[in-house]
Amino acid sequence: AFPNMPAHQKAAHKPSSKPAVFIPVDRSPEIQEARLKLPILAEEQVIMEAINENPVVIICGETGSGKTTQVPQFLYEAGYARFSSNGIIGITEPRRVAAVSMSHRVAKEMNLSHRTVSYQIRYEGNVTDETKIKFMTDGVLLKEIQKDFLLLKYKVIIIDEAHERSVYTDILIGLLSRIVPLRGKKGQPMKLIIMSATLRVEDFTDNKKLFPTVPPAIQVDARQFPVTVHFNKKTPVDDYSGECFRKVCKIHRMLPAGGILVFLTGQAEVHSLCRRLRKAFPFHKNKTEGGEENEESVEETKKFKKSKQKKTMATTPPLPKIDLNNYSVLPVDEGDEDREAEMDDEEDAVGSDLDLDLGDDGLEEGEKSDSSLPLYVLPLYSLLASEKQAKVFRPPPLGTRLCVVATNVAETSLTIPNIKYVVDCGKVKKRFYDKVTGVSSFRVTWTSQASANQRAGRAGRTEPGHCYRLYSSAVFSDFEKFSPPEITRRPVEDLVLQMKALNIEKVINFPFPTPPPTEALAAAEELLIALGALQKPPKTGRLKELQVAKLSCPISSLGITMASFPVAPRYAKMLALSKQHGCLPYAITIVSAMTVRELFEEFERPAVSEEETEKLKGKKARVIQMQRIWAGQGASQKLGDLMVMLGAVGACEYAGCTPKFCEVNGLRYKAMLEIRRLRGQLTTAVNSICPDAGLFVDPKMKPPSETQVIYLRQIVLAGLGDHIARRIQAEELLDEKWKNAYKTPLLDDPVFIHPNSALFKQFPEFVVYQEIIETTKMYMKGVSAVESEWIPILLPPYCHFEKPLAIPPPFYCPETGRIRCHRPSVFYRVGWQLPAVEV
Ligand code: ADP
Ligand code: MG
Repeated sequence: AFPNMPAHQKAAHKPSSKPAVFIPVDRSPEIQEARLKLPILAEEQVIMEAINENPVVIICGETGSGKTTQVPQFLYEAGYARFSSNGIIGITEPRRVAAVSMSHRVAKEMNLSHRTVSYQIRYEGNVTDETKIKFMTDGVLLKEIQKDFLLLKYKVIIIDEAHERSVYTDILIGLLSRIVPLRGKKGQPMKLIIMSATLRVEDFTDNKKLFPTVPPAIQVDARQFPVTVHFNKKTPVDDYSGECFRKVCKIHRMLPAGGILVFLTGQAEVHSLCRRLRKAFPFHKNKTEGGEENEESVEETKKFKKSKQKKTMATTPPLPKIDLNNYSVLPVDEGDEDREAEMDDEEDAVGSDLDLDLGDDGLEEGEKSDSSLPLYVLPLYSLLASEKQAKVFRPPPLGTRLCVVATNVAETSLTIPNIKYVVDCGKVKKRFYDKVTGVSSFRVTWTSQASANQRAGRAGRTEPGHCYRLYSSAVFSDFEKFSPPEITRRPVEDLVLQMKALNIEKVINFPFPTPPPTEALAAAEELLIALGALQKPPKTGRLKELQVAKLSCPISSLGITMASFPVAPRYAKMLALSKQHGCLPYAITIVSAMTVRELFEEFERPAVSEEETEKLKGKKARVIQMQRIWAGQGASQKLGDLMVMLGAVGACEYAGCTPKFCEVNGLRYKAMLEIRRLRGQLTTAVNSICPDAGLFVDPKMKPPSETQVIYLRQIVLAGLGDHIARRIQAEELLDEKWKNAYKTPLLDDPVFIHPNSALFKQFPEFVVYQEIIETTKMYMKGVSAVESEWIPILLPPYCHFEKPLAIPPPFYCPETGRIRCHRPSVFYRVGWQLPAVEV
């Protein structure tokens, strides 16, 4: 009766099998034809039998083989979504882009509406009561587990892109390894399917702690066309961008039709190569994204800044104080906010890259090609506006050749059609963290062999292709085989808090596919104790017992509140304290702005032409001037960079949050939209956590009063307390180059206020910072000034008032190659005499 019915279901009438279920799907002939070409279709029977017989199944298959789009459909057709109450097929993705675009694609293939095939990401979703197939980010599902540990509304959970080993994916797999058997015992079985693009799944299969019974792993043989890999004879020293340019020029001039995909490491590089290529092979009308100066918006901003409050005298003692015990308490039924994995693999904080040295075999910059085909150049990276991202899926204009210049997003998450040539620079930009201090730096490093092979594979999707590796085969053989999972490389305080909220007290015993380093777990617990999110370990006991106790502290009531906010623990603490003195809307805005990466445009963009340089100069001047206005006046200035963020968001909202306003004032439009959404979402969360707050989002928020700014600075200190720094005093100055440098409790090396900071030049004695980024120096970003007398009141855990008896010796940190110190007290480390205050 059903022509599409798979063979195994037709054969399923044997008495031993379960009754055959087949839910028909009405696909268009074109879709059906396209599906039949996908390698995974040939494996449907094997896959479905394995799923029917086993609670956990692993599916490996090349990118583009059809895992993400087809497996949910197999399950749907096999009746896994036919139950009204608990019949959802859930699919998690580590990237938001993938969750959204895959739900659209599957809905289209199945000819179903978004009411049935839906998605949910941190900020938005279209899930309804009728939803049967739900794409979501892994963070969203993690949050759902907190409310319903057994995930009773799901019949199947598919963890997609498991090879990316995103932190949330890893945690989910650990949790689900326990949830699946529990559901079985309850008589409401659930299936877990783990999908991966590579065959390296030993961390899931050879891991008795995770899955005592080894789950079957099915491999989907991709119909991959051969890709000829060409290595460079020599490996360029630095200028891989220029090398990419030369290679694309050569391919375009000399090789037959077929799309080109270039892998670079970051947004700035992508843009600069796009410009060079567009200039060399003009096709685009190439609108520069800008507009002229918008005088109106300046006026608006000035209006915004003209606050009503009268000028108060500069700080007069005593300053008002916030109440540390006045935090929001969670009612029984919490809100329904979500959290989201942040994939920052193409973060762009490191300096830019334009290098015009073209070597001898290259095309001169700007030289016209003799190719008859114009080149249709598109950038692709995850911070790119979504509608621009979607362009790569559409066919290029007739008579042009497509050239996509991408970061890692194109490696496995998105399959760009009709790519025949891949140019791989072999590098990747990664964020490296110091496990203990959390200091991070972005570094461009060689990628892994697995990634390089994934990249090459993109060339052979529709016909035989070529991959040009801009490095030698000797270099390739030195690459690490796989990159280590994210969880082993980053601070884990947010995960530990989430897990404690799930009543997993001994986090150290959790069945992680790959456990994070013990010292990272210990640092996380220590921070959470200091923030008051965990109950304090008992003071008595032997050192050993104490250490164990420290690693298994239960969550506190403040911690439960904090865990319910969809932000990192430090920010969650700020929100929890902000109910006082009407600070909540400001704290929400500050936290939103700190959470969203790259609020301000990076304006040292490499300029190509003379006018562009000129234009940038004008714009830069304006941007600097605006930031000065946003930094506020008088005492408000002490909130520093966080005040600039508040001012920027306020001004932008006053101007209607238009792309033009953002462009003119050096703000990232996409970031501003995200901030707006996050503010809305956090406001909802706050309202459900403290119903008496009765907040509503007023985009055009008034600037805070000077008194409120003082409260805000204390709230910021209470949250970012371990990120405190004190200016090195004149008498301590050993070296001139340490002038205006700061000392922190954690680092031996001095840190500096970033020159773009609002507090650069003011150099207050004590500051807190959002993060330290290491480029040429260790720079603090997101800096606010704090008053010394607040510290013992707000951060008693960091204040030991005596010199410690024994200081643990400094140790070497292999991640950063620096010497680190253990965490003694702020006061001891910064060499500061304690003021006479009552604690
Ligand atoms: P996998 O998950 O195994 O990497 P997918 O299921 O994502 O594979 O993709 C299967 C096929 O569907 C690919 O050939 C891809 O080109 C196609 N596809 C995915 N999304 C779209 C889309 N939005 N438009 C057209 N084709 C798409
Ligand atoms: Mg996929």
